[in-house]
Amino acid sequence: MLNAAKVAEFSAGLRGRIVQPGDADYDAARRVYNAMIDRHPRLIVYCRDVADVMQSVNFARSQSLLLAVRCGGHNGGGLGTCDEGLVIDLSSMKGIRVDAQARRVRVEGGCTWGDVDHATHAFGMATPSGIISTTGVGGLTLGGGLGHLTRKCGMTVDNLLEADVVLADGRLVTASAEQNPDLYWALRGGGGNFGVVTSFVFRLHPVSTVLAGPTFWAIERAAEVMRWYRDFIVAAPQDLNGFFAFLKVPPVEPFPAALRGQLVCGVMWCYAGPEADADAIFKPVREFAAPLLHGVQPMPYPALQGAFDGLYPPGDQWYWRADFVNQLSDAAIAEHVRFAADLPTPQSTMHLYPIDGAAHKLKQGDTAFSYRDANWGQVMVGVSPDAQDAPRISAWAKSYWDALHPYSAGGAYVNMMMDEGEERIRASYRGNYDRLVAIKRQFDPDNLFRVNQNIRPR
Ligand SMILES: Cc1cc2nc3c(=O)[nH]c(=O)nc-3n(C[C@H](O)[C@H](O)[C@H](O)COP(=O)(O)OP(=O)(O)OC[C@H]3O[C@@H](n4cnc5c(N)ncnc54)[C@H](O)[C@@H]3O)c2cc1C
Repeated sequence: MLNAAKVAEFSAGLRGRIVQPGDADYDAARRVYNAMIDRHPRLIVYCRDVADVMQSVNFARSQSLLLAVRCGGHNGGGLGTCDEGLVIDLSSMKGIRVDAQARRVRVEGGCTWGDVDHATHAFGMATPSGIISTTGVGGLTLGGGLGHLTRKCGMTVDNLLEADVVLADGRLVTASAEQNPDLYWALRGGGGNFGVVTSFVFRLHPVSTVLAGPTFWAIERAAEVMRWYRDFIVAAPQDLNGFFAFLKVPPVEPFPAALRGQLVCGVMWCYAGPEADADAIFKPVREFAAPLLHGVQPMPYPALQGAFDGLYPPGDQWYWRADFVNQLSDAAIAEHVRFAADLPTPQSTMHLYPIDGAAHKLKQGDTAFSYRDANWGQVMVGVSPDAQDAPRISAWAKSYWDALHPYSAGGAYVNMMMDEGEERIRASYRGNYDRLVAIKRQFDPDNLFRVNQNIRPR
C-alpha cells in the first residue's frame, strides 16, 4: 500500500519535485495536450536528471504502480499519463549540446522540437522532426517521426544515432549500432515500450533557411489536385517535401481576407535544396490549375516548425485516426472529397505526409518502424476548442477512416493512433512484430512500460 511515509522517503531522494492530488497545481500538472484526456495520476514526478528517472522507475516497480512517461504530452490517446499510477514527467530535462563539427546533437528526454530547432539553428543545422514545435522529442522519435524534412533527410528515427535508456530494472544503458543493437533497433519505431530514454543523439543536416509555405486550390478542384499531387510528389526531387491537406483557411494574417474561413485543399511545402533550382522545382506547382494562393517564401527552418503552433494550442479536443497508404486510387480520392466537404470544425483537417524519398532508403526490417514501402501516412484529425464538439469530431474522424481504410496499406503510424487495440498495433509493425516481442521480453518481461501502443512480452 502506498502511504505518505513511502512517498516522503521517495521524494527526499529526488532532485525534482512530486505533485500529488490535493496540491495546488495538481490539476495543471495532470493536464496533457488533448483536452479529451482526463486522467488522475497518484504521483507526477518532475525528474531533473537520470538519477531521478532511475529512482522513479524503481519506485513504480517496487510499489506495483502503473507507470506512464511524459515528454511533450502530445500523444492523441493520452499515453503520457495514467489513472492512479506514477507519471515520470521529463519536461525539466532540457539539456542540449550541439557538436557542430561532428554534425550531431545530444538532446535530453524532455525537450520539445522547438527546443532542438532553436539550439541547432544557431549552427545552421537541423534534424528531421514533425510539423509542430511544441511536440515532444520523446514520443515523436520513438514512434518514427514524419515531417517537413522526411523526403530529404529521412524519418526522425533514421537520424537517431544513440539513446540512453533507463530500463525496467532501473539500469541505465546506451543503445546504438554498437551497443545493445537490438534495443537500438526496437527504439526506432517501437515507442515507449522498452524504457525511459533520458537522452537522444541525432545526426544533423545543413538546413537553415528553407523555402516554405502553402499552395491552396479551390475545394471544387480537390479530386484533380489530389490526382496531380499523388504523381507529382513521388517523382519530385528529395529536397522538396509537401504534405497534402484539406483545411479551412485560418482567419488570421497573413492569409488574404477573401480566403479566410474558406474550405480549400492545399499542399504545405518545404524546399531545402539549392536556391538556384527552386524556381524550376516550383514551376509545375504554380502552373498546375491556377491556385487561390501560392505562399511559398524563404524562412528560417524554426519559423516553419512553429508556423502552426498558434493554430493548434494545447487544450483543444483532439481525435484522430490514421493509416499508411501506398497508392491514392481514384476511388479513394472520391471518398476523400466526400468527407472533406463535411470538415466538422475550422481546425479539423486531413493530412497526407510523404514517407518516400530518403525514408525509402531503409527497408521494412531495418528499423522497428516497418512501413518503408508506404508513400504516405494519412491522418484524419478532428479538433475543436469546444468540449461539446467531442462526439461530433470523433464521429467524423471515425467514419472518414472507415471509408478510406479499405484503400490503405493496413497498419497505421503508432504516433497517430488512439486506443485501437492489439490487432491495430500488430498491423502497424507487420513482420517486425515478433522481433519486437522478443526484445520486449528481454528488456521488460513484466511489461512495466505498458502505457503506450503496447507490445506485450508474451
Ligand atoms: C499537434 C500535433 C502535431 C503532431 N505532428 C506530428 C508530426 O508532424 N509528425 C509526427 O511524426 N508526429 C506528429 N504528432 C504525433 C506525435 O508524434 C505523437 O503524438 C507523440 O506521441 C508525441 O510525443 P510527446 O513526447 O509529445 O508525447 P507524450 O504524450 O509525452 O508521450 C507519448 C508516448 O511516448 C512515450 N515517451 C515519450 N517520451 C519518452 C521518453 N523519453 N522515453 C520513453 N518513452 C517516452 C510515452 O510514454 C508515451 O507512450 C503530432 C501530435 C500533435 C498533437
